[in-house]
Order: sequence, then C-alpha cells, then structure tokens
Amino acid sequence: MKILLRYCLLVFLCYPVSGGLVAPEAHASNNSINSVRIWPSPTNTRVVLDLQQQPKYSWFILQNPHRLVIDLADTKGDLDFAKIDNSSELVKKIRYSRPKANGDVRIVLELDKKVTPQIFSLQPTAPYGNRLVVDLPDERDSQRNMIEQPVNKRHQDIIIAIDAGHGGEDPGSIGRGGTFEKNVTLKVARELAKLVDGEPGMRSVLIRTGDYYLTPNRRPEIAREKKADLFVSVHADAFTQPQPNGSSVWVLSTGRANSELGRWLENTEQHSELLGGAAEVIQDTNNERYLTQALLDMSMDHSIATSYDVSRNILSELKGMMKLHKKSPQAASLAVLTSPDIPSVLVEVGFISNPKEEKNLNWRKHQQNLAQSIFKGIRSHFLNSPPDGTLWAKQRPKNRTHRVERGDSLSELALRYNVSVNNLKKANNLNTDIVRIGQVLNIPQS
Ligand SMILES: [Zn+2]
Repeated sequence: MKILLRYCLLVFLCYPVSGGLVAPEAHASNNSINSVRIWPSPTNTRVVLDLQQQPKYSWFILQNPHRLVIDLADTKGDLDFAKIDNSSELVKKIRYSRPKANGDVRIVLELDKKVTPQIFSLQPTAPYGNRLVVDLPDERDSQRNMIEQPVNKRHQDIIIAIDAGHGGEDPGSIGRGGTFEKNVTLKVARELAKLVDGEPGMRSVLIRTGDYYLTPNRRPEIAREKKADLFVSVHADAFTQPQPNGSSVWVLSTGRANSELGRWLENTEQHSELLGGAAEVIQDTNNERYLTQALLDMSMDHSIATSYDVSRNILSELKGMMKLHKKSPQAASLAVLTSPDIPSVLVEVGFISNPKEEKNLNWRKHQQNLAQSIFKGIRSHFLNSPPDGTLWAKQRPKNRTHRVERGDSLSELALRYNVSVNNLKKANNLNTDIVRIGQVLNIPQS
C-alpha cells in the first residue's frame, strides 16, 4: 500500500494474442474440439472453444462477406456446429472450411459486420479445460441496449472490478531486490481477470490496464461506472524490517463508510448516480433526504456484509498456499476503499519487503496461485449469493446440499449460504445444533 516513491521502469505486459503458425504434420490429429460456447453481451460476443489440449492456432479476417477464419493445427474437426446454442446477432454461423494441411482444422465464423477480434488461449482451470477464447467487440449492440434498456437494468454477468494498486509514477513499495509493487499488482490483477473472464456469467473490468497512475478516488468511480458487483484492489505490503510476511485482506471500516455516506448525502447531485432508478422515484417527495439515507444505509449494510464474506472466503483460500499475516478481515479507512455502495476488498498479497516473498511475488506461478485463491474466494461468495438478475441467480440450483466437513458448524453454514440457522434446521429436521462430518444438509432458499 505504501505511497509514491520514485519513477519506475515502464513494463508492458500483454495478453497472449494471435499465435504463430505451426508446421503441418501428417499424422492423426491429437487435439479435438469438445464444445463451443457462444456468449453474446451488450458490448461483445465471446466464443469459447473447449479443447482437448492447448491449441496451436492462427487466424485472419476476410471481407465481403465478413468472416473470421481460425486455423487449429493438429486438430480433429468432428464436432457438429449445427447443434451449438447461438443467440448472437454478430456470429451468424460457425462452419468448417478446407484446412491448409492434413490433420488441421479450419473454422469459419460468419459475421454480420467487420470486427477486430481478440483471440487468446486459456490454461485449464476447473471446471474448464484448455480453451481458445475469441472476443468480438460489438459496439452496435451496446448503443442499442443503452436506448432500449432502463438505465438501472443490470448486466447479466457478475462484474468484478479488479484494481491493480499504484501505477505510473507511483511504484508503490519497492522490494530490496528492486521489485516495484505496481508491477506485481498488475500481473496478479491480469491473472485474476483471466480467471474471471474464463468463468461463464462473470466478467472482469481492469481498473488500470497498463503502467499509468490513477488517483485512489478515481478507482472506485470507474468500478461504479462499470456497474461492478465487487471491487477488488490488489496490493503488496511492506515494512521497514525484512521479517514480516504473509497476506491479509482489508475491508472498509463502518466508521469511514458512515463518513463517506454523510459526505455523499450533502451532495444531492450524486444521489441519482448512487441510487439508479430509485432516485427518480423519490426525487419529488419532501422525504428525499430521509429516503435516500435509508436506501444508502441498506446498500451500505449489504456491501459491508458482502465485503466481509468475500474477505473470509479469500483468506480461507490463501491459507492453503501461504502464511496469513492477519487471519481475519481487517477493517480500515483506506483511500481506495471508500464505496459504501459497492462491496470492496483490498488484498495484500504478501510483503514485498520480505526477501523470500519478494522473490515469490516475481514468480509467475505464484502470481497465478494468488489470483486463483482470490478468484475462488470471490466465486464461492457469488455461487452462494448471486446478485438478482444475473445469469448465476437464474441458474442457481433450486435444491442445494452441503456435505459437512471438519470445522463446519450450523451457524457458520447459515452465514455462508445466507440462510437463518432456524431455516437450516427446519430444512433438515434437526432438533439440535450438532452436525456430524459427512452429513449431507439440504440448503433452503434464503
Ligand atoms: Zn500498495
């Protein structure tokens, strides 16, 4: 978290984009396409190819008519594209074409307009295997949606705003080995964004996408503009002595949240932005301030409860991979955690001032593990409490169960699944608060 020190090196990191060409081989194809998923959204259509192995691919675009052609080396072409669900207006059809070499496969996406695709492969992460992701920006849809949809209508995806701490002229803390916090945070943030984007029904927003500076206040503002369901800020800790190590997770303190709330209430112009459609409803009444306060209070209670739940989940995932500096979520008044309306957490991914952790923080695999832990913590929160109107809320299984593990208690499970202990007992005909390991509990709707 530490503040501004010196100028830094410019480090540009890019997502893997179009792969190189691969020499054809004259044997039976090793790779195969297991399925294709098409995810249209207001701003973009994402096509995901699930593959048996890591793809070797290349691509190009053609016009008249508009097409995107993808060549996959050493891959079988036996999946029936006619059976794929496709509600995208942009992607009219997916078909095969003659491959450039035996054993390869050539896929053609017929598009209804010219686009500039972003194509990259993703490593397996449960429950998915190897994937080739094709992102096709589709601004036309977004403009039309903005006209047709009420402003307050939420996005079907759960939006995770990921904030890489520091940047540009603010390097953050600097390790003894010369590591800049701002570079580590961006790398972990990008790994986290990849995991979020690989999860159907979730979408990431990177608050900072390169090495530049944003004020701490601007960061939650961007999250609000993007209608984020969660704001996650990634930092690395530092101390004057090399010994301290481990990770910690911070949430906005209630005191700071209250003072932010007070400040916002003074500024009536912000009300409509904060309350979405609700502000229009209450605008004409004399009770505006009172109602605004009540709505913001509810929103704040919800975001603080959510922040704590996400923090606990992240900590329990981090516990499996590294030492925890603080075992429970820490409440603080931090400049970047000032949103009473958006659940916000700040993860300190270790001490950059500790030589061993500095070394780890530079290691790609460790960055990926950190991202994985943060992602799993976020994911398990939203699996249990998907925001209304999201794909996850619609797909939420009606009959949920939980197998009791060591350390589980009724009160802790009630909290985790957002149900009352009483309802939990009723749903399982329990007369006592005692549960045994291995017992399968029905989880009622909250
Ligand atoms: Zn920091």
